[in-house]
Amino acid sequence: MGAGPALTGRGVTGRVRSRIRVEGIVQGVGFRPFVHALASRYGLAGLVGNDATGVFIEAEGPPAAVTALVEAVRERAPALAVVERVSVSEVAPTGARGFEIAPSVAGGTRRTLVPADVATCDDCLAELFDPADRRYRYPFVNCTNCGPRFTIITGMPYDRGSTTMAGFPLCPECAAEYRDPGDRRFHAQPVCCPACGPALTLRTADGARLPGDPVAVATAWLAGGAVVAVKGLGGYHLAADAADETAVATLRARKRRADKAFAVMAADLAAARELCEVDDASAALLTGPRRPIVLLPRRAGAPVAPSVVPDGPDLGVLLPYTPLHHLLARESARPYVLTSGNLSDEPIAHDDEDARRRLGAIADAFLCHDRPIHTPADDSVVRAFRGAALPIRRARGHAPEPLTLPLAAARPVLACGAALKSTFCLVRGRHAFVSQHLGDLESHETLRAYTTGIERLRRLLGVEPEVVAHDAHPDYPSTTYALGLDGVELVEVQHHHAHIASCLADNGEAGPVIGVAFDGTGHGSDGTVWGGELLVASLTGFRRAGHLEPVPMPGGVTAIRQPWRMAAAFLHAAAEPADGLDVARRNAARWPAVAALAALGGRGVPVTSSAGRLFDAVAALLGLRDAVTYEGQAAMALEHLVDPAVRDGYPVTVTSPLVGGRPVATTSPVIGGPPAAVTSPLVGGRPGDATSTVGMRDDPAVVVIRSTDLVRAVVHDLRRGVPSGVIAARFHHGLAEAVVRAVLLVAGSTGLDTVALSGGVFGNLVLLGGVTDGLRGHGLRVLTHRTVPCNDGGVSLGQAAVAAART
Ligand SMILES: [Zn+2]
Ligand SMILES: [Zn+2]
Repeated sequence: MGAGPALTGRGVTGRVRSRIRVEGIVQGVGFRPFVHALASRYGLAGLVGNDATGVFIEAEGPPAAVTALVEAVRERAPALAVVERVSVSEVAPTGARGFEIAPSVAGGTRRTLVPADVATCDDCLAELFDPADRRYRYPFVNCTNCGPRFTIITGMPYDRGSTTMAGFPLCPECAAEYRDPGDRRFHAQPVCCPACGPALTLRTADGARLPGDPVAVATAWLAGGAVVAVKGLGGYHLAADAADETAVATLRARKRRADKAFAVMAADLAAARELCEVDDASAALLTGPRRPIVLLPRRAGAPVAPSVVPDGPDLGVLLPYTPLHHLLARESARPYVLTSGNLSDEPIAHDDEDARRRLGAIADAFLCHDRPIHTPADDSVVRAFRGAALPIRRARGHAPEPLTLPLAAARPVLACGAALKSTFCLVRGRHAFVSQHLGDLESHETLRAYTTGIERLRRLLGVEPEVVAHDAHPDYPSTTYALGLDGVELVEVQHHHAHIASCLADNGEAGPVIGVAFDGTGHGSDGTVWGGELLVASLTGFRRAGHLEPVPMPGGVTAIRQPWRMAAAFLHAAAEPADGLDVARRNAARWPAVAALAALGGRGVPVTSSAGRLFDAVAALLGLRDAVTYEGQAAMALEHLVDPAVRDGYPVTVTSPLVGGRPVATTSPVIGGPPAAVTSPLVGGRPGDATSTVGMRDDPAVVVIRSTDLVRAVVHDLRRGVPSGVIAARFHHGLAEAVVRAVLLVAGSTGLDTVALSGGVFGNLVLLGGVTDGLRGHGLRVLTHRTVPCNDGGVSLGQAAVAAART
């Protein structure tokens, strides 16, 4: 006390006035009422408001009280807020009394963030089922803490007029709540009630309105075995009684979805526990405000029809996240299948007209409403791994929340992503906005959703891309899209470099690291098909430091859909005869021709180092799948087969760079056994090398993991009649251990001690766990994914991080 007011803003009365700026996700999340309530509690005067960069506050009162408010803003922000920066400066006290909400300030540089959709909060849920409440059983109840956001926002700043609620004028009662700073609906943009908001209807597939309470009648239809389309937050779902095999099989046939599992909505956590084993981390994910589909081990005897999950022990479960879901769950506690409203691989239907057209032949009835969905968003998918969330599909509830890049972009960036599980990413400064999952761009409808999505998010965020990053694959539709843009600087990012960069960005790091990128396929810098790569990589560049042994892919992309062809290729590469093997007998008609193609290796037949293809080959050898209907299907079946009691692994030779003209090989048979003798390669690299190796060809000193050793061992055990669960386990452990040894060789030559694991194959928890434990056991730091998936859904973030770092 006692310093002059001109310097510190402290008045003679001992009052101070602080000007506080809050940046991050602070609009549309109840921030102003939160500050208003704090100010009242601490007896402070001043104001709070929204502007283009976030929230501004002026708080005046005793210094301790002002400090307490700043602390609360930093530490105790509303659940949905993400406070990225708080800056405080002192100004002269004005002597004003009272605390007000200032009018929003429009214009200026657009730096506010668009909030994601939020599951119904407990307060709104209580109102939904309170017969005395004016919103009793109203399917659109929401507040500043919950409800639709991203999917209804048509423009920024985020105001009701810039949402699809613009067509629903507030009734006097809702308007009063909306204007009252003390109300929990203060400036909740989608606020509404039965008097002024959207309404629910139930219609037949040909549009005729069905009489009665829509929720009760829809529930009765579901109980009767019907398929009902339900309009949700980010699009239409298709629902069917999860215990009714006929209903689920009908849905599967009409949707033309062969094997991919359906998700099931359980009424609440207790109901989810009847279906699956739910650990604490999974329970937190299930009940959290983002409400993703959580993959869980299914309980034996769970009341779920076989057609829900045709292959595999896991079940995707989600809990109600809209008031409508809660009403359905209250009407009947039976779990129901809730799957994206689309045909096979098309994008989720969200426009009413489009939904009736596309889903008319699938659904018997439509439970819909008149609040338009502006931006489609599928459900997010996640699983818990060792207490943390492992993202599989990032969409509703997450998009378009930004990640903070380790290196800011000097110019705005658009990263176009890959082809399957596609996303795109926009970068403004340090913020990387990864789009919601959009799907397979080979589908015409998805490609359209992709281009529309880019345009919309670009406008919403006010990002005018000057740099466009894309995959090196010339045939990806995303590459074609990038190459078609005028007046932008193009940055080509190799697929597996993008995977590792994505893992780096996901962890806020810039490298260099040793990256292990294991996936299905990606365009390699040497023109071959990569997918089992060890890279020394930073955000700016990489060099290939190792890989799985390359084998032919007989039939090219056909070999991706027919794993038995990879079995033939690996048997040939391993010089292992196919005599007496079931896989050769099952495919006898085409086996000789495919084996002959494999023998051509390199001459007219593509060659691959893909880890995914190795898993495919072993899955086919074990008789799991000769053909697949979706990416990763055979590999997943192989993972599920693993006998958890088996600890040993097959021995695999890892050849290190040439020393004195002779390859140095290390072999260590058993995970958890004595650490393998690691021979350090000839060249002592320096950490940081990676930054100068953009586009560099193979280092001659690459480490090769001899994957044919695994195939030979698998065949050996098969011929001896070893149970396939044991073989699957030994294969996983052997590969994991070989990866660890290969990484140690690269670590020895480079001095790097951090390893990033990425690529869709690391969705395999047995491999992920084995590699992670092995590396940590040798004192290495391991980075895995936290916010974006390790599969191609994360590639756009990696491309964006690389482009940002290079600019
Ligand atoms: Zn609420
Ligand atoms: Zn109203």
